[in-house]
Amino acid sequence: MSWETDWIANRARITPERIAVVNGETNENWTYEQLNIRAQNLASSLVERGIEPGDRVALLSPNHVCYFDLLFACTKIGAIFVPLNWRLASHELAFVLNDCQPKILIFDEKLEGLISSSFQSVAVRRNGSEYSQWLLKRGKDEVCKVNFDAPLAIIYTGGTTGKPKGAVLTHRSVFYNVINTITSWNLKGEDTTLTYLPMFHTGGLNALSLPLLHMGGKVVIVDQFDPIEAVRILNEHRCTIALFVPTMYHMLIQTEEFKNNTFPTMHTFLSGGAPCSYKVYEAFAKKGLQFKEGYGLTEAGPNNFFIDPNEVNKKRGSVGKPMLYNQVRIINETGNDAQPGEVGEIIINGYHVFDHYWNRPDATSEAVRSGWLYTGDLGKRDEDGYFYIVGRKKEMIITGGENVYPLEIEHILAEYEQVAEVAVVGLPDEKWGEVVAAFIVPKQEGSITVQEIENHCRKYLGGYKIPRKIRLVSELPKTPVGKIDKKELVKSCS
Ligand code: ATP
Repeated sequence: MSWETDWIANRARITPERIAVVNGETNENWTYEQLNIRAQNLASSLVERGIEPGDRVALLSPNHVCYFDLLFACTKIGAIFVPLNWRLASHELAFVLNDCQPKILIFDEKLEGLISSSFQSVAVRRNGSEYSQWLLKRGKDEVCKVNFDAPLAIIYTGGTTGKPKGAVLTHRSVFYNVINTITSWNLKGEDTTLTYLPMFHTGGLNALSLPLLHMGGKVVIVDQFDPIEAVRILNEHRCTIALFVPTMYHMLIQTEEFKNNTFPTMHTFLSGGAPCSYKVYEAFAKKGLQFKEGYGLTEAGPNNFFIDPNEVNKKRGSVGKPMLYNQVRIINETGNDAQPGEVGEIIINGYHVFDHYWNRPDATSEAVRSGWLYTGDLGKRDEDGYFYIVGRKKEMIITGGENVYPLEIEHILAEYEQVAEVAVVGLPDEKWGEVVAAFIVPKQEGSITVQEIENHCRKYLGGYKIPRKIRLVSELPKTPVGKIDKKELVKSCS
């Protein structure tokens, strides 16, 4: 093992007795010492099974402590951890498995049906006796020098814009996300988070869980999001900080439980992964609770920004300023740094940025140029250096030669009282090139008319931004991590 990569052993030495991980449904829990011993035993067993540095060790499981067991085992022996998205269809999962070619796959028996018969490597049940024995069999400290710049994990991106790509994160990039997060979000050993976001995704694994474990904090893991249960668990486990995606917040703020609770132990509610409507901000502000938006992506951290609590209301909609070890620029169409207020592509540089896409040198050289990650997202900065996310470059609509940013229209539509959820996309049009189309989920069926929405838009938007097509729908399609699936929406109109 290497002292710099095997930090869970160091943490276990410092705070052996502290609770590190709790299963939020069963209340089963593990101390730092137990977590480290499990990982050590597992590491030894994997080595015995022929796993060598650089080999991929894949996991297919709902949120569970086994994510930490395997990740920390990999930090000890230099293997590469590949958490798999179990919400994929079997043929999509086969694509990912074929891409990363794991030497071993650990799977939850509930998900066995997803594994296609074409998968040839060793597959071991997480709930089976072999795996349990691996965890129990006293392992020796593996003598293995793991390089800080070697790959630690391959995380497949959300697939919101195309086929999943495996982002290779090194020990260094994971570590720098941890340091950025701890220092900027001011995390402490006394903090407890609730991890609902899937742990196969950077949001569930890297955003708060690993930074908190670094500090000796507590991570409560739950698998399926339920807003009423979420309120109960936040209170019962005295959680202090949590990160949810906007869809979860929409569900949460509509419950009576949210309205009737003061969340006395929570100091920060964070949203990330997709744009968040101002309605959510307001619901938290009304209760005097701290709510902040972060911006991130699998390839960079994911965490990139922080905002001072006192600035959240003054700088509405801003994600704040870049974290400690992070450089962010906004580049305009001419390739120069944009002026304050000017929209351009967000590019990022720092040790927290990923190394490369697995098997995809073409995609890597397109995304990383001269050391900067071109995120494909648009943003702007104000005179005071605060950043605002404007949307995905690919989703910008060009109608009659004018640029339209869906997020701006989504914010306006979401302000209409009866609107529960909204998505704006561009649809191909012979005359205008593209036209703006809005999909709206009303709070109650029949509570809104298209005419009302048009009138509302006319009050706040320039003519070319007003959606030409407005559809009232009962729900919006979502990606496996709960983001609105705009690709699917566009497809549904063709
Ligand atoms: P893929 O890369 O496969 O297309 P994805 O973009 O959803 O999928 P993720 O890494 O899961 O991959 O998500 C990162 C993206 O989420 C960012 O590039 C950005 O577009 C969006 N995002 C994250 N935070 C915010 C935010 N606060 N506001 C708006 N968009 C956000």
